Amino acid sequence: MKGAKPQSNNYHKARKRLGRIHLKVQRQRKDWAIKQARNVVMSSDVVVYENLQIANMVKNHHLAKSISDAGWYQYTQWLDYYGKILDKVVVAVSPNYTSQDCSNCGHRVQKSLSTRTHSCPSCKVEICRDTNAALNILHKGLNILGIEWNKNGTSGQEESAEQSGKHGEKTTAVVDKQFDSISGLR
Ligand SMILES: [Zn+2]
Repeated sequence: MKGAKPQSNNYHKARKRLGRIHLKVQRQRKDWAIKQARNVVMSSDVVVYENLQIANMVKNHHLAKSISDAGWYQYTQWLDYYGKILDKVVVAVSPNYTSQDCSNCGHRVQKSLSTRTHSCPSCKVEICRDTNAALNILHKGLNILGIEWNKNGTSGQEESAEQSGKHGEKTTAVVDKQFDSISGLR
Protein backbone atom coordinates (compact mmCIF):
# COMPACT_ATOMS: atom_id res chain seq x y z
CA MET A 1 0.00 0.00 0.00
CA LYS A 2 1.74 3.14 -1.08
CA GLY A 3 1.63 6.14 1.15
CA ALA A 4 0.01 4.20 4.00
CA LYS A 5 1.57 4.85 7.39
CA PRO A 6 1.42 2.29 10.17
CA GLN A 7 -1.26 3.32 12.67
CA SER A 8 0.20 4.92 15.77
CA ASN A 9 -0.21 3.52 19.27
CA ASN A 10 -2.39 6.48 20.09
CA TYR A 11 -4.71 5.58 17.26
CA HIS A 12 -5.21 2.08 18.64
CA LYS A 13 -5.65 3.39 22.18
CA ALA A 14 -8.30 5.81 20.98
CA ARG A 15 -10.02 3.08 19.03
CA LYS A 16 -10.26 0.84 22.09
CA ARG A 17 -11.48 3.72 24.20
CA LEU A 18 -14.21 4.37 21.68
CA GLY A 19 -15.22 0.73 21.86
CA ARG A 20 -15.55 0.90 25.62
CA ILE A 21 -17.67 4.04 25.54
CA HIS A 22 -19.92 2.42 22.98
CA LEU A 23 -20.47 -0.59 25.24
CA LYS A 24 -21.30 1.72 28.13
CA VAL A 25 -23.85 3.58 26.01
CA GLN A 26 -25.39 0.27 24.94
CA ARG A 27 -25.72 -0.82 28.54
CA GLN A 28 -27.22 2.49 29.61
CA ARG A 29 -29.60 2.39 26.69
CA LYS A 30 -30.78 -1.08 27.67
CA ASP A 31 -31.32 -0.09 31.32
CA TRP A 32 -33.14 3.00 30.17
CA ALA A 33 -35.34 1.03 27.75
CA ILE A 34 -36.37 -1.35 30.51
CA LYS A 35 -37.19 1.51 32.89
CA GLN A 36 -39.09 3.36 30.17
CA ALA A 37 -41.10 0.31 29.22
CA ARG A 38 -42.05 -0.19 32.85
CA ASN A 39 -43.03 3.49 33.29
CA VAL A 40 -45.08 3.56 30.12
CA VAL A 41 -46.98 0.39 31.00
CA MET A 42 -47.48 1.41 34.63
CA SER A 43 -48.86 4.86 33.79
CA SER A 44 -51.28 3.68 31.09
CA ASP A 45 -54.41 1.57 30.90
CA VAL A 46 -53.67 0.47 27.35
CA VAL A 47 -50.39 0.54 25.45
CA VAL A 48 -50.41 0.08 21.68
CA TYR A 49 -47.21 -0.25 19.70
CA GLU A 50 -46.35 -0.67 16.07
CA ASN A 51 -45.11 -4.15 15.24
CA LEU A 52 -42.32 -2.99 12.93
CA GLN A 53 -40.74 -5.44 10.54
CA ILE A 54 -37.27 -4.81 11.88
CA ALA A 55 -35.45 -7.24 9.57
CA ASN A 56 -36.80 -5.50 6.49
CA MET A 57 -36.24 -2.04 7.85
CA VAL A 58 -32.65 -2.68 8.79
CA LYS A 59 -32.05 -3.61 5.13
CA ASN A 60 -33.13 -0.08 4.27
CA HIS A 61 -29.87 1.68 5.08
CA HIS A 62 -31.64 5.01 5.60
CA LEU A 63 -33.48 3.53 8.55
CA ALA A 64 -30.99 0.91 9.69
CA LYS A 65 -28.97 3.00 12.12
CA SER A 66 -31.79 4.62 14.03
CA ILE A 67 -33.73 1.38 14.35
CA SER A 68 -30.95 -0.89 15.51
CA ASP A 69 -29.68 1.86 17.81
CA ALA A 70 -33.03 2.26 19.45
CA GLY A 71 -33.32 -1.49 20.06
CA TRP A 72 -36.98 -1.22 19.17
CA TYR A 73 -37.63 -4.94 19.16
CA GLN A 74 -36.17 -5.40 22.65
CA TYR A 75 -38.16 -2.43 23.86
CA THR A 76 -41.41 -3.97 22.62
CA GLN A 77 -40.46 -7.23 24.33
CA TRP A 78 -40.19 -5.30 27.59
CA LEU A 79 -43.56 -3.66 26.96
CA ASP A 80 -45.10 -7.13 26.55
CA TYR A 81 -43.34 -8.36 29.67
CA TYR A 82 -44.51 -5.49 31.89
CA GLY A 83 -47.98 -5.76 30.41
CA LYS A 84 -48.11 -9.30 31.76
CA ILE A 85 -46.66 -8.69 35.20
CA LEU A 86 -48.51 -5.40 35.81
CA ASP A 87 -51.73 -6.82 34.36
CA LYS A 88 -52.17 -4.11 31.70
CA VAL A 89 -53.30 -4.37 28.10
CA VAL A 90 -50.40 -4.19 25.63
CA VAL A 91 -51.28 -4.55 21.96
CA ALA A 92 -49.07 -4.77 18.86
CA VAL A 93 -50.55 -3.53 15.60
CA SER A 94 -49.50 -3.78 11.97
CA PRO A 95 -47.52 -0.77 10.75
CA ASN A 96 -49.39 -0.66 7.43
CA TYR A 97 -50.29 2.91 6.47
CA THR A 98 -49.91 4.26 10.00
CA SER A 99 -47.84 7.14 8.62
CA GLN A 100 -49.88 7.67 5.48
CA ASP A 101 -53.48 7.65 6.64
CA CYS A 102 -55.08 10.75 8.09
CA SER A 103 -55.86 10.14 11.77
CA ASN A 104 -58.68 12.65 11.54
CA CYS A 105 -60.62 11.57 8.43
CA GLY A 106 -58.92 8.41 7.16
CA HIS A 107 -57.83 9.91 3.83
CA ARG A 108 -54.59 8.31 2.57
CA VAL A 109 -51.92 10.97 2.19
CA GLN A 110 -48.76 9.57 0.57
CA LYS A 111 -45.60 11.03 2.03
CA SER A 112 -41.91 10.25 1.88
CA LEU A 113 -39.78 9.63 4.97
CA SER A 114 -38.49 13.19 4.87
CA THR A 115 -41.98 14.72 5.07
CA ARG A 116 -42.31 15.56 8.74
CA THR A 117 -45.78 17.10 8.67
CA HIS A 118 -49.04 15.42 7.86
CA SER A 119 -51.19 17.85 5.83
CA CYS A 120 -54.51 16.38 4.79
CA PRO A 121 -55.96 17.80 1.57
CA SER A 122 -59.32 16.28 2.48
CA CYS A 123 -60.03 17.56 6.01
CA LYS A 124 -57.25 20.19 6.09
CA VAL A 125 -55.80 18.91 9.36
CA GLU A 126 -52.12 19.71 9.78
CA ILE A 127 -50.16 17.87 12.47
CA CYS A 128 -46.73 16.42 13.10
CA ARG A 129 -46.12 13.22 11.15
CA ASP A 130 -45.35 11.26 14.32
CA THR A 131 -48.43 12.50 16.16
CA ASN A 132 -50.58 11.46 13.22
CA ALA A 133 -48.98 8.01 13.15
CA ALA A 134 -49.33 7.65 16.94
CA LEU A 135 -53.05 8.42 16.72
CA ASN A 136 -53.47 5.86 13.94
CA ILE A 137 -51.62 3.26 16.00
CA LEU A 138 -53.84 3.97 19.00
CA HIS A 139 -57.00 3.72 16.85
CA LYS A 140 -55.85 0.38 15.46
CA GLY A 141 -55.15 -0.97 18.93
CA LEU A 142 -58.49 0.19 20.31
CA ASN A 143 -60.17 -1.38 17.28
CA ILE A 144 -58.54 -4.70 18.06
CA LEU A 145 -59.79 -4.40 21.64
CA GLY A 146 -63.26 -3.48 20.40
CA ILE A 147 -63.16 -0.06 22.05
CA GLU A 148 -64.91 2.60 20.04
CA TRP A 149 -62.86 5.69 19.27
CA ASN A 150 -65.04 8.77 19.34
CA LYS A 151 -63.13 11.98 18.91
CA ASN A 152 -66.19 14.13 19.59
CA GLY A 153 -67.04 11.80 22.44
CA THR A 154 -68.50 12.06 25.87
CA SER A 155 -66.78 13.85 28.73
CA GLY A 156 -65.42 10.56 30.01
CA GLN A 157 -63.66 9.87 26.75
CA GLU A 158 -62.35 13.42 26.54
CA GLU A 159 -60.87 12.98 29.95
CA SER A 160 -59.04 9.81 28.98
CA ALA A 161 -57.75 11.44 25.78
CA GLU A 162 -56.43 14.30 27.88
CA GLN A 163 -54.75 11.88 30.25
CA SER A 164 -53.00 10.04 27.47
CA GLY A 165 -51.81 13.40 26.20
CA LYS A 166 -50.27 14.10 29.58
CA HIS A 167 -48.55 10.74 29.59
CA GLY A 168 -47.22 11.48 26.15
CA GLU A 169 -45.68 14.72 27.31
CA LYS A 170 -44.20 13.10 30.37
CA THR A 171 -42.66 10.33 28.31
CA THR A 172 -41.16 12.79 25.85
CA ALA A 173 -39.60 14.76 28.67
CA VAL A 174 -37.96 11.65 30.09
CA VAL A 175 -36.75 10.63 26.64
CA ASP A 176 -35.12 14.03 26.04
CA LYS A 177 -33.42 13.96 29.41
CA GLN A 178 -31.97 10.54 28.76
CA PHE A 179 -30.63 11.47 25.35
CA ASP A 180 -28.97 14.48 26.95
CA SER A 181 -27.25 12.29 29.45
CA ILE A 182 -26.08 9.90 26.73
CA SER A 183 -24.65 12.64 24.57
CA GLY A 184 -23.13 14.25 27.66
CA LEU A 185 -21.10 11.11 28.40
CA ARG A 186 -17.75 11.74 29.94
ZN1 LIG B 1 -57.93 14.23 6.87
